Amino acid sequence: MLRFHRLSVPTPYSVGPVNSYLIVSEPVTLVDPGPDWPAAREALSGELERLGLGLQSVARIVLTHSHADHSGLARFVHEATGAPVYVHLHALAELAPDYDYLAVRLPFLRESGLPEPVLEKLINLKDVVPQPVVLPEEAVVVHGGESLEFSDGSLRVLHMPGHAAGHLCLWNEADRVLFSGDFLLPDITPNPVLGPDPENPAQRDRTLEHYLSGLEVVRRLNPRVVWPGHGEAILNPPEVVARNLAHHEARLLAVLDVLGGSALTAYQVAAALFPDMRQFDIFLGLSEAFAHLDYLRERGEVEAFYRNGTLYFRRVGTG
Ligand SMILES: [Zn+2]
Ligand SMILES: [Zn+2]
Repeated sequence: MLRFHRLSVPTPYSVGPVNSYLIVSEPVTLVDPGPDWPAAREALSGELERLGLGLQSVARIVLTHSHADHSGLARFVHEATGAPVYVHLHALAELAPDYDYLAVRLPFLRESGLPEPVLEKLINLKDVVPQPVVLPEEAVVVHGGESLEFSDGSLRVLHMPGHAAGHLCLWNEADRVLFSGDFLLPDITPNPVLGPDPENPAQRDRTLEHYLSGLEVVRRLNPRVVWPGHGEAILNPPEVVARNLAHHEARLLAVLDVLGGSALTAYQVAAALFPDMRQFDIFLGLSEAFAHLDYLRERGEVEAFYRNGTLYFRRVGTG
């Protein structure tokens, strides 16, 4: 039986603290160290001291995904310990020092119908923490399917995209325990964050399609308990899976409803779904809109066309 502790690490984001997991079975493994933020660094070091282990005991770091609230301190822990950082290939690409998160997504934002001044503002938003970085020489690249061995158990690496490219979950078959990162959360449905398809970067990633098939994977694994990236342990995983499925079905219907008989941009759909979007929420709202519109397009219920470089969506049969 794997022995581990959940460490609550503060973040500067509205999502609240992030869960870092310290697996104390050998080799001692730290999953998602937290954001590169002074309060987080202090909390992480403090929690490790409190457990009588200290930073030096960490022999392996695993990142569920590249988002700054989970990954920012990987470099700090690596530099203190030399521990390698296990990360998916597609997450590692987003952790390169010269990676420009919004620039990579700019073609999708430009065709989204976002008014120019709003786009300008969005591009110039500054994160409160430095961009997370992991260098290839510090990393052990995984693809999913690998097994991480411990003195008293193992964790299977699952590639579970949908919220982020290269998102990983860790599955302990013996105890039917899943470490879910942001894939499954107790109180919220993760955002299907807009990004390029890693295999075909000119296209948007089919985030919702990936996410819904991942939910099916979780359903089949039938975990006893899920330890998420934020919040308390999930003791009723089938209910949370069903709730997330229902949430997306309802949102697909809401998007069809917003479209009605008109041709609308992703931004117009996002603004109808989330009238109070501001700052980075605009990017997340657009992500929601694109994810559901693209999925409806896959299902043959919506079609898309360009007019003057802007992408419009309409219900099939209303053109
Ligand atoms: Zn995330
Ligand atoms: Zn998160």
